[in-house]
Amino acid sequence: MREKNIPPLLSNGEISEKLDIPLQKLEEAYCKGIIKYYKEHGVKALQFRKSLKHIESGTMVTLGDEMEVIRGFPKIRRTLMLYPALEKHFQDEIAVEEKMNGYNVRIAQVDGHIVAFTRGGYICPYTSRKATEILDLDQFFQDHPKMVICGEMVGTLNPYVSHCYPEIGKLGFRIFDLREKLTNTPLPIIAKRKLLLDYGLEPVRLLGIFPIKEAPEKIMEIVRELGVNDREGVVMKDPQMQLEPLKYTSSQAQDSELEYALSYPFDLAQAFLFSRIIREGFQAYEMGESSDELRERALRMGESIIYPMLNTIHRVKEGEVAAEDLIIEVDSEEEAQEFIRHLRDLKVMATLAEFKDGKAVIRRIHQSTTDKINNYLQGGLY
Ligand code: ATP
Ligand code: MG
Repeated sequence: MREKNIPPLLSNGEISEKLDIPLQKLEEAYCKGIIKYYKEHGVKALQFRKSLKHIESGTMVTLGDEMEVIRGFPKIRRTLMLYPALEKHFQDEIAVEEKMNGYNVRIAQVDGHIVAFTRGGYICPYTSRKATEILDLDQFFQDHPKMVICGEMVGTLNPYVSHCYPEIGKLGFRIFDLREKLTNTPLPIIAKRKLLLDYGLEPVRLLGIFPIKEAPEKIMEIVRELGVNDREGVVMKDPQMQLEPLKYTSSQAQDSELEYALSYPFDLAQAFLFSRIIREGFQAYEMGESSDELRERALRMGESIIYPMLNTIHRVKEGEVAAEDLIIEVDSEEEAQEFIRHLRDLKVMATLAEFKDGKAVIRRIHQSTTDKINNYLQGGLY
């Protein structure tokens, strides 16, 4: 009975061999929902909803004319203390790239079409359209069909993580990795940058390559400066890309995430709060700040907790729904509706609030926040 639902392609051994995972494990994973059959926007694939052995969550096995594996983007772990974590983790030198605050996109050529996958392995129609508008990728994929371009979609007209970068404006794409489809092997830092330059494609900023002894101090200074300019932080990488990268973020980045989470306290805050507070504690310790600097940090952090929450309570009291408006540029109302359907597939509740002059306002509703605040305002007990 059980086997009946398993797509025959999963059971014919080819995928098992390619991924180096026993057939039985794959079938079990399919039955448990770890692997799902995916068919959207002209692509048929097996989608890894969670990781399975060495295969990352977000991996897609596309089932078109040619079967191909597009691996998920690996999770990047975080340092809380630059010293001694960097010294323990890296060898000789550390390449420091800017960490851009947007959303992760993998772009690959699938059956001759250029497709953009978001983190979980979903094809986002908006992202796919914009990626090909922003970037001229034909020549690159003609020459390198087995590569995956990994980068961050950034800017203000960004439906997932809207952040203002003066050099980007509405929407832009910055590339941080070039990886091989099946193996997920990344190119070394310098080779990656050279290849991107050859094709006129824009990489993230490389902020320096430092000997390991100097790195913590240099990076702390870089991150402090990034923070002051409202920028997120850094990803530290082995120049050869043989070791796992690590990330480290600015105090201001922590605060802006707190601000966002506390705007929708009953939908987001629990998942966000603890880790951001811990990051601040260790950064304050390592930066060895003066009492004035420390007070400034404490104040900023407190403000990013209290004000947004208070603002939302007021709004709900006035009868509003706790919702955030995302703006995207689309050619038609149908394109906006298509994007909303995509969000619904991701279990995000959203409606089209307005469509005018090529801009769609998508309203993302935070229901628990709305309901709970209403309840407490009416005397409900916590
Ligand atoms: P995860 O660590 O699983 O990716 P997350 O969604 O919390 O979880 P972030 O904290 O934003 O992600 O950090 C990792 C992400 O940072 C990457 O997935 C990538 O999208 C983004 N990123 C931005 N700039 C870079 C860069 N220069 N190198 C690598 N990743 C970068
Ligand atoms: Mg991010």
